[in-house]
Amino acid sequence: MDYSKVLNTTLASLPPSGIRRFFDIANEVKADDMISLSIGEPDFATPWHIREKGITSLEQGKTWYSANAGLLELREAISRRIARHTAVEFDPRSEIVVTVGGSEALDIGIRALVNTGDEVLVPSPSFVCYAPLVAMAGGVPVSIVTKAENGFRLTADELRAAITPRTKLLILPFPNNPTGAVMRREHLEAIADVLRDTDIMVISDEIYGALTYGDAPHVSAVQIEGLRERTLLVDGFSKAYAMTGWRLGYICGPEPVMKQVVKLHQYAIMCAPTTAQHAAIEAMENGDEDIAYMRGEYDARRRLILQELNDMGLTCFEPEGAFYVFPSIQISGLTSEEFCEQLLLRHHVAIVPGTAFGDGGEGFARISYCYSVNHIMEAMKRIRRFLQELKEEAR
Ligand code: PMP
Repeated sequence: MDYSKVLNTTLASLPPSGIRRFFDIANEVKADDMISLSIGEPDFATPWHIREKGITSLEQGKTWYSANAGLLELREAISRRIARHTAVEFDPRSEIVVTVGGSEALDIGIRALVNTGDEVLVPSPSFVCYAPLVAMAGGVPVSIVTKAENGFRLTADELRAAITPRTKLLILPFPNNPTGAVMRREHLEAIADVLRDTDIMVISDEIYGALTYGDAPHVSAVQIEGLRERTLLVDGFSKAYAMTGWRLGYICGPEPVMKQVVKLHQYAIMCAPTTAQHAAIEAMENGDEDIAYMRGEYDARRRLILQELNDMGLTCFEPEGAFYVFPSIQISGLTSEEFCEQLLLRHHVAIVPGTAFGDGGEGFARISYCYSVNHIMEAMKRIRRFLQELKEEAR
């Protein structure tokens, strides 16, 4: 059988994720002293009171399907949490769907909107999944390269310049993976002004919305006049509540769109895992303190790693959200891929080349700080030694 003839051609032409590629090389290198700062996954276990609710639901035999859109009790809890933080109301019966992670929320949000040939604007660098999901939906991903000098934010001018008559959708990936950039109210308002008289929809991926640092609270796109009615808000439990393995997220938006979103979810997934949904109710109702604790820990690591990197000459824009830093590696004289590959092979430290996150990533690398301080400090020591070696070799 010639499998090249039977595969979906769009899918077959998509490259595998650049993050996984580095993770796989790291696994192959089989060194006992390997240190990975490559994965965006909290090093905390899910807080016990949340786990306990999942366990209790199993003990009580709650092992059935839920409603397609998710347990109503969870949707109500999600609605209350969003209202608590943004003062924006989403109707739990018609405007919220519980999904298998933020990942599924992005997929079905994109597929509910995109027709063949529609252009979807994707600020870059950003999370690896947007462009492939757009391509699989028949759309054309159009990247907008954000710039370090603008704090890796999407500017109104950049957006305006990228819009064509075919533009259907804008992905707003803030707080951003990998840069840690956040969009403040005024930045979002400028985006809203550009979109005002258009039919362009927005998918705002706010999965790191609970993890921002500094005094200014996260502002959601749905809080901005002119964005609420055109925005699908994507969020989830993985990052804020350290619940990656439970596979739970959600998508909220205007009823006419959500009616279509729920159909996709119904046909492809049926419903998100029920045990995870029971645990998630507890997270939504009583998880704010856990977030505050974990955010404090991430913030301490963020400061430490920033200081170390800047001290060794890897200039680093200060990330204000998520749990990544995105230093420039240009002083090494290497490309992002070369830098990360050599660091991995010579010093057994795995970080991810910026190019894994799209067009804007050359010259940068992503370092995740969801790791212990000891782990981080050992990695920093080795990166410092690597830079020293490169300097000596260049003489
Ligand atoms: N959005 C962004 C920006 C992410 O970084 C991730 C995970 N790395 C996701 C969505 C998906 O997360 P999950 O499916 O675990 O909710």
